[in-house]
Amino acid sequence: MRVHRPGFVALIVSAALSSGCGGAAPAPGGSGLPAPPGKEPLAGKVVVLDPGHNGGNATHPVEINRQVDIITKSKACNAVGFKTADGYEENAFAWSVTQHLRPLLEQMGAKVVLTRPNDEGVGPCVTERAAIGNDARADAVVSIHGDSGKPSGHGFHVIVPGLIPGRNDEVIEPSRKLGRAIRDAYEAGTGMPYANYRGEEGLRSRTDLGGLNLSTRPVVFIECGNMRNPGDAAKMSDVAFRKRIAGALADGIKNYLTGS
Ligand code: ZN
Repeated sequence: MRVHRPGFVALIVSAALSSGCGGAAPAPGGSGLPAPPGKEPLAGKVVVLDPGHNGGNATHPVEINRQVDIITKSKACNAVGFKTADGYEENAFAWSVTQHLRPLLEQMGAKVVLTRPNDEGVGPCVTERAAIGNDARADAVVSIHGDSGKPSGHGFHVIVPGLIPGRNDEVIEPSRKLGRAIRDAYEAGTGMPYANYRGEEGLRSRTDLGGLNLSTRPVVFIECGNMRNPGDAAKMSDVAFRKRIAGALADGIKNYLTGS
Protein backbone atom coordinates (compact mmCIF):
# COMPACT_ATOMS: atom_id res chain seq x y z
CA MET A 1 0.00 0.00 0.00
CA ARG A 2 1.22 3.46 -0.79
CA VAL A 3 1.96 5.49 2.33
CA HIS A 4 0.78 9.04 2.04
CA ARG A 5 2.75 11.83 3.56
CA PRO A 6 0.79 14.99 2.85
CA GLY A 7 3.23 17.20 4.69
CA PHE A 8 6.13 15.84 2.69
CA VAL A 9 4.33 16.34 -0.61
CA ALA A 10 3.28 19.85 0.39
CA LEU A 11 6.88 20.66 1.23
CA ILE A 12 8.03 19.57 -2.21
CA VAL A 13 5.30 21.53 -3.93
CA SER A 14 6.02 24.66 -1.94
CA ALA A 15 9.72 24.29 -2.67
CA ALA A 16 8.94 24.00 -6.36
CA LEU A 17 6.74 27.07 -6.17
CA SER A 18 9.25 29.17 -4.27
CA SER A 19 12.01 28.27 -6.69
CA GLY A 20 9.87 29.47 -9.54
CA CYS A 21 9.90 26.15 -11.32
CA GLY A 22 7.97 26.23 -14.56
CA GLY A 23 5.89 23.60 -16.22
CA ALA A 24 8.86 21.55 -17.38
CA ALA A 25 9.87 20.65 -13.83
CA PRO A 26 10.11 16.96 -12.96
CA ALA A 27 7.06 15.48 -11.29
CA PRO A 28 7.06 16.25 -7.57
CA GLY A 29 6.00 13.55 -5.17
CA GLY A 30 7.21 10.64 -7.30
CA SER A 31 10.43 8.68 -7.01
CA GLY A 32 12.47 11.85 -6.66
CA LEU A 33 14.11 11.21 -10.01
CA PRO A 34 13.14 13.26 -13.05
CA ALA A 35 11.13 11.26 -15.56
CA PRO A 36 12.71 10.82 -18.97
CA PRO A 37 11.95 13.75 -21.30
CA GLY A 38 8.68 13.38 -23.14
CA LYS A 39 7.32 10.75 -20.76
CA GLU A 40 5.15 13.04 -18.66
CA PRO A 41 1.85 13.63 -20.43
CA LEU A 42 0.76 16.38 -18.05
CA ALA A 43 4.02 18.33 -17.85
CA GLY A 44 3.25 22.03 -17.72
CA LYS A 45 -0.38 21.47 -16.71
CA VAL A 46 -1.93 22.78 -13.51
CA VAL A 47 -4.75 20.82 -11.90
CA VAL A 48 -6.68 22.23 -8.96
CA LEU A 49 -8.41 19.62 -6.80
CA ASP A 50 -11.19 20.84 -4.53
CA PRO A 51 -12.18 18.29 -1.90
CA GLY A 52 -15.68 19.34 -0.90
CA HIS A 53 -16.49 20.71 2.58
CA ASN A 54 -14.12 20.30 5.54
CA GLY A 55 -13.91 18.36 8.81
CA GLY A 56 -14.32 21.42 11.01
CA ASN A 57 -17.34 22.88 9.23
CA ALA A 58 -19.96 21.19 11.43
CA THR A 59 -18.62 22.81 14.59
CA HIS A 60 -18.24 26.29 13.07
CA PRO A 61 -21.75 27.23 11.86
CA VAL A 62 -21.23 30.98 12.12
CA GLU A 63 -18.23 31.01 9.79
CA ILE A 64 -19.77 28.47 7.43
CA ASN A 65 -23.17 30.13 7.18
CA ARG A 66 -21.78 33.58 6.39
CA GLN A 67 -23.42 34.65 3.16
CA VAL A 68 -21.28 35.18 0.08
CA ASP A 69 -22.13 36.38 -3.43
CA ILE A 70 -22.02 33.67 -6.10
CA ILE A 71 -23.36 35.89 -8.93
CA THR A 72 -26.76 34.20 -9.23
CA LYS A 73 -27.59 34.42 -5.55
CA SER A 74 -26.35 34.82 -2.02
CA LYS A 75 -25.25 31.56 -0.47
CA ALA A 76 -23.55 30.11 2.62
CA CYS A 77 -19.77 30.36 2.55
CA ASN A 78 -19.50 26.58 2.69
CA ALA A 79 -21.58 23.59 3.78
CA VAL A 80 -21.19 20.73 6.23
CA GLY A 81 -21.67 18.01 3.62
CA PHE A 82 -23.52 14.74 3.80
CA LYS A 83 -22.80 11.40 5.46
CA THR A 84 -23.65 7.74 5.03
CA ALA A 85 -26.06 5.96 7.39
CA ASP A 86 -22.97 4.63 9.16
CA GLY A 87 -21.63 8.15 9.67
CA TYR A 88 -18.91 8.27 7.00
CA GLU A 89 -18.66 11.94 6.17
CA GLU A 90 -18.54 13.51 2.73
CA ASN A 91 -15.61 15.73 3.68
CA ALA A 92 -13.57 12.66 4.69
CA PHE A 93 -14.56 10.86 1.49
CA ALA A 94 -13.57 13.82 -0.68
CA TRP A 95 -10.30 14.26 1.19
CA SER A 96 -9.40 10.58 0.82
CA VAL A 97 -10.11 10.56 -2.91
CA THR A 98 -8.02 13.70 -3.32
CA GLN A 99 -5.10 12.19 -1.42
CA HIS A 100 -5.10 9.17 -3.72
CA LEU A 101 -5.61 11.25 -6.86
CA ARG A 102 -2.94 13.84 -6.26
CA PRO A 103 0.12 11.57 -6.62
CA LEU A 104 -1.31 9.98 -9.76
CA LEU A 105 -1.50 13.38 -11.42
CA GLU A 106 1.91 14.40 -10.12
CA GLN A 107 3.44 11.22 -11.50
CA MET A 108 2.13 12.31 -14.91
CA GLY A 109 3.91 15.64 -14.52
CA ALA A 110 1.04 17.89 -13.44
CA LYS A 111 1.36 20.57 -10.83
CA VAL A 112 -1.47 19.92 -8.35
CA VAL A 113 -2.95 22.59 -6.09
CA LEU A 114 -5.48 21.78 -3.37
CA THR A 115 -8.13 24.16 -2.05
CA ARG A 116 -7.61 22.99 1.53
CA PRO A 117 -4.50 21.55 3.24
CA ASN A 118 -6.14 18.92 5.47
CA ASP A 119 -9.49 17.56 6.65
CA GLU A 120 -9.58 19.25 10.04
CA GLY A 121 -10.11 22.86 9.07
CA VAL A 122 -13.05 25.17 8.40
CA GLY A 123 -14.03 26.20 4.88
CA PRO A 124 -12.63 27.87 2.89
CA CYS A 125 -15.62 29.67 1.40
CA VAL A 126 -16.69 28.69 -2.10
CA THR A 127 -15.55 32.13 -3.28
CA GLU A 128 -12.05 31.43 -2.03
CA ARG A 129 -12.02 27.91 -3.48
CA ALA A 130 -12.89 29.33 -6.90
CA ALA A 131 -10.24 32.03 -6.55
CA ILE A 132 -7.58 29.38 -5.87
CA GLY A 133 -8.32 27.77 -9.24
CA ASN A 134 -8.41 31.13 -11.00
CA ASP A 135 -5.20 32.40 -9.41
CA ALA A 136 -3.39 29.15 -10.23
CA ARG A 137 -4.52 29.55 -13.86
CA ALA A 138 -5.67 25.95 -13.61
CA ASP A 139 -5.99 23.95 -16.80
CA ALA A 140 -8.67 21.90 -15.03
CA VAL A 141 -10.51 22.29 -11.72
CA VAL A 142 -12.23 19.23 -10.25
CA SER A 143 -14.40 19.50 -7.15
CA ILE A 144 -15.02 16.16 -5.44
CA HIS A 145 -18.24 15.37 -3.60
CA GLY A 146 -20.68 12.68 -2.54
CA ASP A 147 -24.36 13.26 -3.10
CA SER A 148 -27.44 12.92 -0.92
CA GLY A 149 -30.37 11.76 -3.02
CA LYS A 150 -33.31 9.53 -2.24
CA PRO A 151 -32.02 6.23 -0.80
CA SER A 152 -33.29 4.24 -3.77
CA GLY A 153 -31.29 6.41 -6.20
CA HIS A 154 -27.78 5.38 -7.07
CA GLY A 155 -24.90 6.15 -9.40
CA PHE A 156 -22.69 9.16 -10.11
CA HIS A 157 -23.05 12.35 -12.06
CA VAL A 158 -20.79 15.20 -13.15
CA ILE A 159 -21.96 18.79 -12.75
CA VAL A 160 -20.88 21.40 -15.29
CA PRO A 161 -21.41 25.18 -15.14
CA GLY A 162 -24.59 26.52 -16.66
CA LEU A 163 -24.33 29.64 -18.77
CA ILE A 164 -24.48 32.99 -16.97
CA PRO A 165 -24.36 35.34 -19.96
CA GLY A 166 -21.50 37.79 -19.82
CA ARG A 167 -19.87 36.05 -16.86
CA ASN A 168 -18.73 32.56 -17.73
CA ASP A 169 -19.27 32.20 -21.48
CA GLU A 170 -15.69 31.12 -22.17
CA VAL A 171 -15.60 28.27 -19.65
CA ILE A 172 -18.81 26.58 -20.70
CA GLU A 173 -17.52 24.54 -23.62
CA PRO A 174 -14.17 23.46 -22.12
CA SER A 175 -15.94 22.56 -18.88
CA ARG A 176 -18.41 20.38 -20.78
CA LYS A 177 -15.53 18.70 -22.52
CA LEU A 178 -13.83 18.12 -19.16
CA GLY A 179 -17.14 16.84 -17.80
CA ARG A 180 -17.60 14.33 -20.59
CA ALA A 181 -13.99 13.10 -20.24
CA ILE A 182 -14.41 12.59 -16.51
CA ARG A 183 -17.82 10.98 -16.88
CA ASP A 184 -16.54 8.47 -19.43
CA ALA A 185 -13.42 7.61 -17.44
CA TYR A 186 -15.36 7.35 -14.17
CA GLU A 187 -17.88 4.95 -15.64
CA ALA A 188 -15.15 2.84 -17.23
CA GLY A 189 -12.82 2.88 -14.22
CA THR A 190 -15.28 2.35 -11.38
CA GLY A 191 -18.11 0.43 -13.02
CA MET A 192 -20.55 2.84 -11.39
CA PRO A 193 -23.62 3.66 -13.50
CA TYR A 194 -24.86 7.14 -14.32
CA ALA A 195 -27.10 8.47 -11.54
CA ASN A 196 -30.67 7.28 -11.99
CA TYR A 197 -32.18 9.98 -9.79
CA ARG A 198 -30.78 13.24 -11.20
CA GLY A 199 -28.90 14.48 -14.26
CA GLU A 200 -29.03 13.01 -17.73
CA GLU A 201 -26.49 10.58 -19.10
CA GLY A 202 -24.30 11.23 -16.07
CA LEU A 203 -24.21 15.00 -16.62
CA ARG A 204 -26.02 17.94 -15.07
CA SER A 205 -25.71 21.70 -15.52
CA ARG A 206 -26.18 24.11 -12.59
CA THR A 207 -25.92 27.84 -11.91
CA ASP A 208 -26.34 27.69 -8.12
CA LEU A 209 -22.85 26.51 -7.16
CA GLY A 210 -20.26 29.15 -6.33
CA GLY A 211 -17.36 26.90 -7.28
CA LEU A 212 -18.76 26.69 -10.81
CA ASN A 213 -20.17 30.20 -11.21
CA LEU A 214 -17.03 31.98 -10.05
CA SER A 215 -14.51 29.90 -11.99
CA THR A 216 -12.72 31.45 -14.94
CA ARG A 217 -11.07 28.10 -15.63
CA PRO A 218 -12.52 24.80 -16.96
CA VAL A 219 -14.34 23.34 -13.96
CA VAL A 220 -16.56 20.45 -12.96
CA PHE A 221 -17.99 18.97 -9.80
CA ILE A 222 -18.40 15.24 -9.50
CA GLU A 223 -20.96 13.61 -7.23
CA CYS A 224 -19.15 10.29 -6.94
CA GLY A 225 -22.18 8.39 -5.67
CA ASN A 226 -25.25 8.72 -3.48
CA MET A 227 -24.17 8.53 0.16
CA ARG A 228 -27.76 7.73 1.21
CA ASN A 229 -27.92 4.68 -1.04
CA PRO A 230 -26.63 1.57 0.81
CA GLY A 231 -24.81 0.15 -2.20
CA ASP A 232 -23.09 3.39 -3.16
CA ALA A 233 -22.32 4.12 0.50
CA ALA A 234 -20.60 0.75 0.93
CA LYS A 235 -18.40 1.44 -2.08
CA MET A 236 -17.58 5.00 -1.06
CA SER A 237 -16.67 3.85 2.46
CA ASP A 238 -14.15 1.34 1.09
CA VAL A 239 -10.63 2.66 0.63
CA ALA A 240 -9.94 0.20 -2.19
CA PHE A 241 -12.88 1.64 -4.09
CA ARG A 242 -11.75 5.19 -3.40
CA LYS A 243 -8.44 4.29 -5.01
CA ARG A 244 -10.35 3.08 -8.06
CA ILE A 245 -12.19 6.39 -8.08
CA ALA A 246 -8.89 8.25 -7.94
CA GLY A 247 -7.51 6.21 -10.82
CA ALA A 248 -10.61 6.86 -12.90
CA LEU A 249 -10.50 10.60 -12.20
CA ALA A 250 -6.80 10.70 -13.11
CA ASP A 251 -7.63 9.03 -16.42
CA GLY A 252 -10.44 11.49 -17.13
CA ILE A 253 -8.32 14.53 -16.32
CA LYS A 254 -5.44 13.19 -18.41
CA ASN A 255 -7.72 12.44 -21.35
CA TYR A 256 -9.11 15.97 -21.24
CA LEU A 257 -5.74 17.66 -20.90
CA THR A 258 -4.09 15.61 -23.63
CA GLY A 259 -7.05 15.64 -25.98
CA SER A 260 -7.14 11.85 -26.10
ZN1 ZN B 1 -20.71 18.16 -1.38
